[in-house]
Amino acid sequence: MAAATNDFLGLLREHIATADRLFLSVRSAVAYGRSRQVFSTPVPYSVDLPISVPPDARLRLAVATRDTFFMEDLTGRADPVRFTVSLVRPSGETVVLAERTLAIRDRPADRRWIELNLDLARFAGEQAQLRLASVTPGTPTAPDKTFALWSRPYLVQPAASHEQPNLLFITIDACRADHLSAYGYARPTTPALDRLASEGIRFTRAYTNAPMTVPSLSQILTSRYFPTQASPTLMSSLFAAGVPRTKAIIRNPYLEFFLKLAARDSFDSVSSVTWRADRIAAKGLAWIDAQRGDRWALYLHFLDIHTPYRVRPPEGTRFADPAYRGPVGYGWGDVEGAQQGKYDAADRAQAMALYDSGLRFIDDQVAGLFDALRARGLLDRTLVVVSADHGEEFWDHGSFFHGVSLYDEQLHVPLIIRLPHAAHAGSVIDVPVRSIDIVPTIVDVLGAPSFPEFEGETLLPIIANPATAAPREDFARAANNAYPQRFALRTATHKLILTQQPFGESLFDLVADPGERHDLAADPAARAVLDGLRTRLDGYRAPYWSAGFQVRAVAPPGTTADVEVAITSNDDQLVVNPDRVGGDRPDTLQLARDSLAITWRGPVTDRPIGFRFDRVMGFHDDGGLTIRMRANGADLPPEAIVLGPDDQHPPASPFVYKVIGPTKVKAHEEPALLATTPPTPTAGSGGVRVYLWRVLEQAPAALGTPPTDEKTRERLRALGYVE
Ligand SMILES: [Zn+2]
Repeated sequence: MAAATNDFLGLLREHIATADRLFLSVRSAVAYGRSRQVFSTPVPYSVDLPISVPPDARLRLAVATRDTFFMEDLTGRADPVRFTVSLVRPSGETVVLAERTLAIRDRPADRRWIELNLDLARFAGEQAQLRLASVTPGTPTAPDKTFALWSRPYLVQPAASHEQPNLLFITIDACRADHLSAYGYARPTTPALDRLASEGIRFTRAYTNAPMTVPSLSQILTSRYFPTQASPTLMSSLFAAGVPRTKAIIRNPYLEFFLKLAARDSFDSVSSVTWRADRIAAKGLAWIDAQRGDRWALYLHFLDIHTPYRVRPPEGTRFADPAYRGPVGYGWGDVEGAQQGKYDAADRAQAMALYDSGLRFIDDQVAGLFDALRARGLLDRTLVVVSADHGEEFWDHGSFFHGVSLYDEQLHVPLIIRLPHAAHAGSVIDVPVRSIDIVPTIVDVLGAPSFPEFEGETLLPIIANPATAAPREDFARAANNAYPQRFALRTATHKLILTQQPFGESLFDLVADPGERHDLAADPAARAVLDGLRTRLDGYRAPYWSAGFQVRAVAPPGTTADVEVAITSNDDQLVVNPDRVGGDRPDTLQLARDSLAITWRGPVTDRPIGFRFDRVMGFHDDGGLTIRMRANGADLPPEAIVLGPDDQHPPASPFVYKVIGPTKVKAHEEPALLATTPPTPTAGSGGVRVYLWRVLEQAPAALGTPPTDEKTRERLRALGYVE
């Protein structure tokens, strides 16, 4: 993608992609105890970035010499580094804006970040080059231990920026809309959010795009159904807009994984904590107070009502029956107990009471935060957005927890927006909208640059004119390997749910049957609706069908073959995101329970059909995939197996596919499958052929299960990927 003007991190990423130099990176890194988005380079190094200088602008950035590398302390080793920031004007003249030399080996006072705040007013209107250069003065003695760190440079227009609002974005994990008193719930669970809604806009029909944290939050933050590591984020827009201070305080390891490893740009600082809402809200307020008038954006994520419930009595049992003595408590056993059908009506009521009590606990904390912002005169200068990553099922369809299905109790989320100066106060909007619309709306209100990659649309036109607004249909995907893979399309009147394993379709009339009780998929009267929704759902799935690993089988005209493809992981790297492509209904796609093998089987004609999947690439040696392809009960000969874009064949059948070398570097693989232009599957004269290829980058590979075990995290830390 083309980076937005003055989206320096985007430009640096593009530079790295073509620079062919080791140890260049843009990422979150900790130096001298501060987590920042950095451009890290060897020394010497120099890069020129196009810059369009607005009026009255200042350039802010910070520099430091890297203090650790692969867990090695560099403070006693690194050479001195001279940092130079200059502007190369259209005339060719080079103006040095700042020069600092940091010698961390010899001067302990240099073991810190040096903040630079540079006046660009005299260059207003120029299209110039910003040059970031580092050298070692004198003779280097430890060039392999010396690295320059540049924090994200940003342009700020102090006068103009002062008029733009701050951002407070809050997501509550597993918060179903109909348990908020603001949404008509009988218990007083959310008085503060009710008040926020009365001062803002409440969307009564907002639907998320996934029923699990992964991938819902990455979809929300990228405004994309299938985000990749290249997808710009909310944070990309905040950077491009020059919002000087950005921070996330979050409780959820999956979200931490996304923000620290997978998200393009990310916040200046991400605090991943195991705190309850009270501490997160208090830390958020302290951080806001520390900004002392600078414009800021703060993202908070609460986990208190995600089972197992952690808010203790008395707050945590506010709505519970004091006489309850059953098994529902504070452990993960609740999910197991519920799914094994062990819970009776009293147990279910207790689970719901703990959930509701936790929601009130969160609400009490945000009440304090909102009141503090009001008292400081900041609330009217801040855009406040509150939503959830997904809902929660309380046995609505016989189950407890989320990710299990795509019914509304898992997809219907709160969405409350308080605009600066309480514009449109008290609006209640019934037009169906989507979670991927949140970021385009935030960007619109903040006056920040949008990106063409955003698939959602701003909600401001709907807010201004709800009567004439068109409903937005919701595409949802349940991609967690613990549950069947599912897709759904929800229009204003109907929902189609498609289940992959085993294949099944359900159709609901949401007007006559909002509880989704009566499946109309087999009803002849609903045939036309079903066909129409299925075609549109296929359209949403199409990006999946052109990314990741792809398998297609095709038989000569006039023949039918029984084809089976079995792919088994030779190590612990998971197969994820399976989907059948163009499949006839009798075919089957089966992911093993441990997600280490996938099998597809079906009758194949001259129309190519097959499946797709992704593989979660680990940070360790690759054992590869063993691939076995059969037709009519016999192994296919190698010449009937077509690999990659150039009609190559494996040396044997079955065969092993391996990634060789660093998984972060493209296309070290054997045999080569990587294709930028996919092959066109055609049957050989002799019989069935099966094609296998792989499309890099566009695949939503980052949506796999993050490594949360301590050993893997230790490795990641050693590599500098996580703190
Ligand atoms: Zn979640």
